[in-house]
Amino acid sequence: MEFERLEYLVVGAGLWGSVIAERIATVLEKPVRVIDRRSHVGGNCHSYRDPRTGIECHAYGTHIFHTAIPEVWDYIGNFTDFTTYRHKVLTEYKGHVYPMPISLATINNFYDINLKPWEVEAFIAKESGRTGNVSENPPSNLEEKAISLIGRPLYEAFIKGYTQKQWEKDPKELPPEIITRLPVRTNYNIDYFNDPWQGMPVKGYAAIFNRLLDDEKIEVSLGVDFKSIASKISKTCRIFYSGTLDELCDYKFGPLEWRSLRFEQSVEPHPDVQGTSVLNNADLETPWTRTHEFKHLHPERGPQGESSVVSKEFPDSFEIGKIPYYPIETQENKNLHKKYKDMVAETYPSMIVGGRLGDYKYFDMDRTIENALHAFEKFAKDLTR
Ligand code: UDP
Repeated sequence: MEFERLEYLVVGAGLWGSVIAERIATVLEKPVRVIDRRSHVGGNCHSYRDPRTGIECHAYGTHIFHTAIPEVWDYIGNFTDFTTYRHKVLTEYKGHVYPMPISLATINNFYDINLKPWEVEAFIAKESGRTGNVSENPPSNLEEKAISLIGRPLYEAFIKGYTQKQWEKDPKELPPEIITRLPVRTNYNIDYFNDPWQGMPVKGYAAIFNRLLDDEKIEVSLGVDFKSIASKISKTCRIFYSGTLDELCDYKFGPLEWRSLRFEQSVEPHPDVQGTSVLNNADLETPWTRTHEFKHLHPERGPQGESSVVSKEFPDSFEIGKIPYYPIETQENKNLHKKYKDMVAETYPSMIVGGRLGDYKYFDMDRTIENALHAFEKFAKDLTR
């Protein structure tokens, strides 16, 4: 179908757009076109088989599916089975390797002591110099928040350098919420995530997207930019948009701030290079933040050959043309995003915006799915009014 006659258009074939398209086709039983400027579907969840080794690689960094939202777990289960993989992360600091996030294992290893779980709180309180009531004086930035949670020595070893590299900002200038993504534990549980449901898609991420979009009512056009077809879209077409809003508005109020990433990938001549899927690098002097070794994400697939694919993750400044990964959610940037949202509402009155790029929020995959399901539900409800 030509763009002129479309009734439903989804911009972006990432998780948000693919869920929206699936809902339009399945629930409304309407034809829908999905466009994406990239040459593949799946957005930043995209995975592919490395042609040299056959190992499944994550093009935009390791993606682990984890959620505590029953609705999301039920929904995604229609499109894939999950393995029983539970993510564990190690972090390297000054030549030693520790479990991450901070747990009793990290604390006891780092201080070379043998605290018991019930002794941790008082120990951390002493280390963080915490006095009085925390709720009277809540931490106003990431550094204060981290020190209140784990004390200064652990903060300086495992958080300060990593965060400075990741965000290229002093942790004092970053919002405290970023660090609350990481749990702090007083036991030896070294899982990275607390969520009850976790796993890797048995047949890979590409298979999820193929299933989501596998409906004769859904047509996907890759290598297509919204701007190049916008003038052809009829006024009555319902547009679901998951790109960035500053770009959509030609950067009228200036660009939104993002962090980008760069990956250096290599095939190494060892069956196992680092013994785990993700190794963080906490030292400020090491310019990358993480090393991914993809074969460890699928232990159920066996040894997967005599060599291994590793990918070093380097935080990168963002400029127009690079991939936006992380929104920098300062109040100033949130205000700028709101200005763009208002402008979009005026320019495209019936457009529905969502996803990490559209909403300018640090969503995990499950939050993105939830956001799409709710956006669709609201839309479908309004239709029946
Ligand atoms: N972080 C850190 N040290 C680590 C891992 C994470 O300081 O070893 C901080 C850092 O500021 C990061 C935030 O915690 O931006 C959230 O980490 P997470 O692993 O959730 O980031 P993502 O996987 O989304 O990149």
